[in-house]
This record gives sequence, structure tokens and C-alpha cells, in this order.
Amino acid sequence: MTAQLIDGTAIAAEFKAEIRGQVEEMLARGLRRPGLAVIMVGDNPASAVYVRNKRKACAESGLLSVAHDLPYSTTQGELVQLIESLNRDAAIDGILVQLPLPQHIEQSLIIEKIDPTKDVDGFHPFNVGRLALRVPLIRPCTPYGVTKLIEHVGISPKGRHCVVVGASNIVGRPMALELLLMGGTVTVCHRFTGDLEPYVMSADILVVAVGRPGIVRGEWVKPGSVVIDVGMNRAADGKLVGDVDFDGARKRAGWITPVPGGVGPMTVAMLMKNTLEASAGRVHA
Ligand code: NAP
Repeated sequence: MTAQLIDGTAIAAEFKAEIRGQVEEMLARGLRRPGLAVIMVGDNPASAVYVRNKRKACAESGLLSVAHDLPYSTTQGELVQLIESLNRDAAIDGILVQLPLPQHIEQSLIIEKIDPTKDVDGFHPFNVGRLALRVPLIRPCTPYGVTKLIEHVGISPKGRHCVVVGASNIVGRPMALELLLMGGTVTVCHRFTGDLEPYVMSADILVVAVGRPGIVRGEWVKPGSVVIDVGMNRAADGKLVGDVDFDGARKRAGWITPVPGGVGPMTVAMLMKNTLEASAGRVHA
């Protein structure tokens, strides 16, 4: 068996085209263009690439992107002030603070300063709590994007065993909540799980988000399963690779995401979708 590829780039392009159409309709009705403020502190090269992609996606989706590139020396107080002013800014519907922040700034404090109705990354405890309580408002972009990929494949998690490897606040945990919401029976593996093999072998839908290349071996993958690889790691030759042994897994899975071109573009597309929906007033805290 050779798995079918889940083309995240193409699916994300469809989302962005749809968002662009909706923005054009809004403009035609005399409404303003939805605005996303993208804040980057310091010059982490990986963050710079992500931020550039997000700004490019705004242009493709017809959204206004407002850049706030701040020096590494920015204090926590200065960043809080900027967020508070963006919370009040009527032209801004979404506020994104690119993570990680410099060590002298407390990440969780900053996230909690963002107005939950403008928290288009979906990281604010209010939004994570809403997801946990089955009444999601703004949903964390990467897990939300993964749900769209699973919907695209057409295999419902209902009645199926879904295994999430990785339990971070921004991917693994909200991913487990999304899969629960979709009706899956969910197992979450983390650094204390130990042997991952028996969990992976029983997964009908497998989502891996650890940040370690090859942590999931191809021969563990259940035949015919859906494999979603969130991992993004830079290999020694400079290439971007996932967490799953792609060549091995592809021989057993029914569907698999490539890296790059799988989850990454969907994360950005969901950020655009969240910003549009925040602007349309569909989000009320
Ligand atoms: P993270 O914050 O470092 O979290 C990694 C998770 O993996 C933690 O929950 C950790 O467990 C768990 N873990 C560590 N060792 C493990 C092991 N041996 N077995 C099972 N679980 C283990 O990373 P992240 O932000 O979630 O990102 C994970 C990967 O996804 C990275 O490669 C990142 O670049 C990528 N990513 C991609 C996108 C995208 O759009 N494609 C978006 C976000 C992240 P504990 O909780 O117990 O420490």
C-alpha cells in the first residue's frame, strides 16, 4: 500500500481563496478590511520566516496586515502597552504575538493580555477553556487546521482511536480536545509515556507533534490509518522534516501529510479564517 498524500498547500489555498472572496464582499458592502497585527520581538530567524509567511498569507487572503517588529530589548511593560493599545484599536481584529518571546518576557502573561475576541492564535485560557467545554470560539490554529485535513480525507474520528503524540499547550493538548469534540476516543502520549509503539500501532488517526525527527517509526503505523505529522525539524542537510519516518509510514498508512506542505500551510490558513471571523463579529466573549 502507498498512502495518499494530504496536500495541505492546496487545501490551504482553497481556504485563502474563500476568505478573499468573503473580504471582497465585505468591502463591497462598505465594511472595512479585516486587520491582523503581527508582533515579533527580536530577530529569531525561524520566527522571521513564520512571520513573513503569515504576512504573505494576509495579502493572499485580502486581509490588512500591520507589522510590529520590536527589538530584543523590548521590555514586558512596553509589550503589554502595545497589546493594550491594539485591544482598543478598532481597525485591528486579530493580534498575533509570535512565539517564543525573549526570556525576560513572560509568555503566559502576554497571552492573557490579549483581548480574547482578538486572540486569533486561540492560545488565551478563555479560548482554550471554551474548546474544553465544547463551545469553541477562536480555536488554536494548528489543531484547527488538522481537523480540516481530517475532514478533507473524509474519515470521521467517531468511534475511532485517535492518538496524539505530544502534549504541548499549543498543539498536543488542544488537538486532543478537537479530536474529542469530533467524537474520537483519544489517547495522548507525552515524554513520560515511554514506549510509543503500542499506542501508535492502535491508532486509526495519528497526530504527531513532538519536534523530534523519526520519533514515530514507519513500521509502527497501523495499515490504512490517517497520519498527520505536525513536526517541523531542520535536518543536517538543511531540509525540513517531520517527526514521522515518512518513507516507512507511507508504505502502511492510508493517508499521510508531507512535511513541508502538510500541516504548516493549514496553520496559517486557519489564522486567516480566525481573523476574518473575529472581524465579522462572530466571536463574542
Ligand atoms: P513543544 O512545546 O516542545 O512540545 C513537545 C511535546 O512533545 C511536549 O508535550 C512533550 O511532552 C512531548 N514529548 C517530548 N518527548 C517525547 C517523547 N519521547 N514521547 C512523546 N512525547 C514527547 O513543541 P510544540 O510547540 O508542540 O511543537 C511540536 C512540533 O511541531 C515541533 O517540531 C514544531 O516545530 C512543530 N509545529 C508545527 C506547526 C505547524 O504549523 N506545522 C505548528 C506548531 C508546532 P511533555 O509535555 O511531557 O513535555
